[in-house]
Amino acid sequence: MQKDSQAEQRWHILVSRQASGSAPFFYAVTSTGIVCRPGCPSRLPRQENVRFFDHCEDAMKAGYRPCKRCRPLGSSHPHNGMVLTVCRLIEEDPAQARLSTLASACGYSPSHLQKTFTQKIGISPLEYAKGVRQLRAYRELGQGSSVTESLYAAGYQSASQFYTEFKEFSSLPAGSHRLAGRGEVITFAAAETSLGVLLIAASATGLCWISLGEDFAQQVQELQAHFANAQFCPPDPDFVDWLSQVVGFLDSPCEPLDLPLDIRGTLFQRQVWEALRSIPPGMTMDYQALAERIGKPTAARAVARACASNVLAVVIPCHRILRKDGGLSGYRWGVQRKAQLLEREQLRRTKEGSSKEND
Ligand SMILES: [Zn+2]
Repeated sequence: MQKDSQAEQRWHILVSRQASGSAPFFYAVTSTGIVCRPGCPSRLPRQENVRFFDHCEDAMKAGYRPCKRCRPLGSSHPHNGMVLTVCRLIEEDPAQARLSTLASACGYSPSHLQKTFTQKIGISPLEYAKGVRQLRAYRELGQGSSVTESLYAAGYQSASQFYTEFKEFSSLPAGSHRLAGRGEVITFAAAETSLGVLLIAASATGLCWISLGEDFAQQVQELQAHFANAQFCPPDPDFVDWLSQVVGFLDSPCEPLDLPLDIRGTLFQRQVWEALRSIPPGMTMDYQALAERIGKPTAARAVARACASNVLAVVIPCHRILRKDGGLSGYRWGVQRKAQLLEREQLRRTKEGSSKEND
């Protein structure tokens, strides 16, 4: 809740073009991979492409490059020129980033470069290169490119390099979901979408997790905490195809998603979730009406709890539940996203309605 209103406030500051003196935050633009300070003279990005960070360094850790125009790192620090040069060289060709090449381009020794860059940003130049590659790969995957295209476009030299880096978050090699009898195996993949970072995961049965957020690593932690006894493996090309389908579904939530689901919960929770799935896109309901729909008119509070424990964002459309007075109520993945989803569905429904009238 608070995170959303903070993002809203920051967005208003951006729009008003106030300089950053009064606004201690930075904004990164997912479509360009650049981080700016408020008041930057560059074109205002679309709101859905903006991510906010408290520190410029945090944005850089996530793979964003500091803007050349507004110099979000500040101009007073003696090593800023070096940091900007290193970021630009890595951004130009993240596959070829070598400490020795970067160092000689800045006139530093490799060890001095390593030390000063790491002190300034909190990660080493090669870790920054890794962040740049990952950010690009998720962006490409989110645009529906094939896994191979995405990885090369992102600066990976091979698919195995991508999987190796992805594996930091996982304990098994890609494709392991086909292995049986070794305990539960969960495959996961992420993409940058119009609604933020999308993380999906599947068991052998089907999709068991869909989350939306700002931070890939944090979402992976939540996933791993939820399936505490499972082993995790990175996506193979088949699963990346699932990822594209879910990305497409977020953009057109009125089209059915043709993927198997692995819905886990108590009988009561599954009743509630089934009822949620029967609410058509563009329509909304309140908890009381949902409780009545499953034949338990006195269980509105338990119904609300079941909605809150949904782990399949959008596919189980708990975003279609509003307060009785029409208020947005809460949303596990951010109230702002809930509003965006509802607006999207409403728009689609109005369009479809008017095209039917025209037929
Ligand atoms: Zn800028």
